[in-house]
Amino acid sequence: MEVKPIHVANECPGPIGKSKIIIAGPCSAESEEQVMQTASQLKAEGIRMFRAGVWKPRTKPGGFEGVGKRGFPWLQRVQKELGMQVCVEVGNASHLDAVLESGMDMIWIGARTSTSPFAMQEIADVLRGVDIPVLVKNPINADLELWIGALERINRSGITRLGTIHRGFSAYEKTLYRYPPQWQMPIELRRRFPELTIICDPSHISGKRELVPSVCQQALDLGFDGLMIESHCCPEEALTDAAQQVTPQALGQMLASLVLRDKVPTENIFADCRERIDRCDAALVALLAERMNISREMGELKRENNILVLQSERYEKVVNDAVVEGASKGLSEEFLRKLFEVIHAESINQQL
Ligand code: PEP
Ligand code: MN
Repeated sequence: MEVKPIHVANECPGPIGKSKIIIAGPCSAESEEQVMQTASQLKAEGIRMFRAGVWKPRTKPGGFEGVGKRGFPWLQRVQKELGMQVCVEVGNASHLDAVLESGMDMIWIGARTSTSPFAMQEIADVLRGVDIPVLVKNPINADLELWIGALERINRSGITRLGTIHRGFSAYEKTLYRYPPQWQMPIELRRRFPELTIICDPSHISGKRELVPSVCQQALDLGFDGLMIESHCCPEEALTDAAQQVTPQALGQMLASLVLRDKVPTENIFADCRERIDRCDAALVALLAERMNISREMGELKRENNILVLQSERYEKVVNDAVVEGASKGLSEEFLRKLFEVIHAESINQQL
């Protein structure tokens, strides 16, 4: 993928204020007054990129589904009267036609839409020949290839100011978060596409405003390029996502309190730790090799004596002993179970 960076010239407080992309605004545009009031308060906090959804993809029908095209004159007022840029969600080709006609500055594609290659292709086809920055949210389900496929469809239509948003993934079980993050996925995206702009949406990850600051800080600690945060002039009265929205003033305070870590340490403070870790890793590899040698020897013995390779009770004992021993040394059960599952699988392979 050939991509260029996306710039947003915000002037928010705190060290992240000028160096990261900050996009803020309500989940939904609800009324002209709510849009203007929220946007002008956000402008006072240094925000220059306003977000608002006009078509709302709700899980079930019958609720507030957005104001539709009626919202564009309000968003144009934000552009003209407040001098802010505006970013809106598109979910299909006709949304995109309407957004392009009304002169919006940036678009994002929501999680429900990026899950569908049909919808993504339809949008990508309309984007051919258009120069507008596009942000693609991760699909609802944690499928990295589907996520990359959605980005590639947009990129192939000629969009190079392309970025992505990690907004967490649906989980079957009840969790602390509304859509739990899976940080290893954006980390892998960064590894494969170093130039891609990667933004975090802490609002949809959190689902409740109290969690938003800690998710923002985690994203910054992982080197994300920016944040998209839901903010409403009266969060409690919001028609959608009321529990996760913050006031513009609270947003300003939170941004000022976030910490920006240095990319590279000024001195080589890790040298000693890294050397010790390298020695541990070399010892681990040597031990694993020795363990697999023993496994092969065991394989021979089993073959000669006509005994099954898989000895489930023995496996249970090995893992349980390791869990008990590990607990006394501060290692988590989950980690040890995962580790021994992999070791055991390889051990069995060696005996086949
Ligand atoms: C939104 O940003 O308001 C939204 C609907 O997000 P998502 O697609 O992440 O659910
Ligand atoms: Mn929302």
